[in-house]
Amino acid sequence: MLTVAEAQAAILAAAKKTDKVETVSLLQAKGRVLAENIEATVAVPPCDNSAMDGYAVYAADCESAKILPVAGVVYAGAVPGSLQAGTAQRIFTGAPVPAGADAVIIQEDVCREENAIALNAACSVKAGDNIRRAGEDIAVGDVLFRAGHCLRAVDIGLLASVGIQHVRVTAMLRVGLLCTGDELLEPGQPAQAGKIYNSNRYLLTAMLQDLGWEIVDAGIVKDDLQATTDALQRLANEYDVIISTGGVSVGDADYVKQAVQQSGQLEVWKIAVKPGKPLAFGRVGQIPFFGLPGNPVSAFVTFMLFVRPYLQSMQGSQPRELRRCPVQAGFDWPRPGKREEYLRVALRYESNALVAVALPNQGSGVLSSVCRADALLRVPVNTIFAVGDTMECLLLD
Ligand code: AMP
Ligand code: MG
Repeated sequence: MLTVAEAQAAILAAAKKTDKVETVSLLQAKGRVLAENIEATVAVPPCDNSAMDGYAVYAADCESAKILPVAGVVYAGAVPGSLQAGTAQRIFTGAPVPAGADAVIIQEDVCREENAIALNAACSVKAGDNIRRAGEDIAVGDVLFRAGHCLRAVDIGLLASVGIQHVRVTAMLRVGLLCTGDELLEPGQPAQAGKIYNSNRYLLTAMLQDLGWEIVDAGIVKDDLQATTDALQRLANEYDVIISTGGVSVGDADYVKQAVQQSGQLEVWKIAVKPGKPLAFGRVGQIPFFGLPGNPVSAFVTFMLFVRPYLQSMQGSQPRELRRCPVQAGFDWPRPGKREEYLRVALRYESNALVAVALPNQGSGVLSSVCRADALLRVPVNTIFAVGDTMECLLLD
């Protein structure tokens, strides 16, 4: 059996980055991967501006109880005239600071008279107070993001702040998805004796959407060699990757491996991981293929550990592992295992520590335990631990 790390390395080594790129509007850019570095051509903020509603002044004019005539008003969006020494200008948040002014007094610190302000006795003013400096967020020429960066909501906000409307991103890749199993029903169909609803299709579709992939769904394929071969070949003609679930172990009704061998090549790895031992990887024609186990928890874990980094790499981004963090075990694990185990745990913050509590049913068909989990606790091969020991978690979301 391969270790998890060996299998991850071998799978990642096979990933080829796409060279297809396209231009998309910022409003369509969430989750997309940049195909170019992005440099700022404007500063943010573009000019010194007020952080508060108040009065623009020379700090040196501002001894306490001083009275200053108000010689103008500056609204956000306006272009102010310069400030004469010994006067103040009314100013609002975001409005450009008049030339000469070096501080803004907040309006709560003055008493407004008809055409003047009287500074409160306790008010002290220093140069720079309540002024947001030009370029304090972004300077012209700053590299905001490099090619390969996957755009999140906040990144899109930052790009907009420097006036960018479109970005060059790698093309959205397309995954063909099929679920095998005579027992599967689609949600919406009436329940039937002996059948179960197809959860993998929906689980994987949603996870692939999160990665910014386009999903083309071949639906449910019967446990039948010909039907499986036909479905794979149909997908291989059109898509960038094929993912199947179920039918990859060694049961009599498991046809996926044979079907892949007929039209491509297959490596089936026994990976020392629990859940998720059998994972098929190979090619249908020239198209990369992943055969995930049918148990939904196994499909989830193998997707996260092995498929997601591969897809991110194909899409041109650095594979982003789930974030790791140390936790205190909230339970004992007295029996060492032969496979690296990923336990579904809930995290609680208790007496200054993050404590991991195992969800009660860790069966590989128990998808509800993934929904209730905050993280996967990694138990290395041959490892035991007890309450209070520090272990490593992979954070979900
Ligand atoms: P298999 O890998 O085909 O042997 O399936 C292993 C287990 O996962 C069986 O109990 C299947 O019924 C279940 N299973 C397979 N495919 C799905 C699916 N798409 N949704 C939910 N459960 C599934
Ligand atoms: Mg099956």
